[in-house]
Amino acid sequence: MKIRKVMEGPRDGEIRCLACFTRFRPKSSVDRVKCPSCGTQWRISWPYPKTARLQGPVWETYPKPGEPIVKK
Ligand SMILES: [Zn+2]
Repeated sequence: MKIRKVMEGPRDGEIRCLACFTRFRPKSSVDRVKCPSCGTQWRISWPYPKTARLQGPVWETYPKPGEPIVKK
């Protein structure tokens, strides 16, 4: 199976959790989603109406073992 571009293809609207690699489909136009498998929260954007793009973790909820949270 070939790797498709993230932006296009039949999996439009799906994102893949970078923590556990589960694919899931966030509700349209939300900016934060929670992985149904591992519970990690992600920030997403919608470059196209049906194409979600994962921006990164929601830092407030992202576990950082052994690393103090530095606020600026
Ligand atoms: Zn996950």
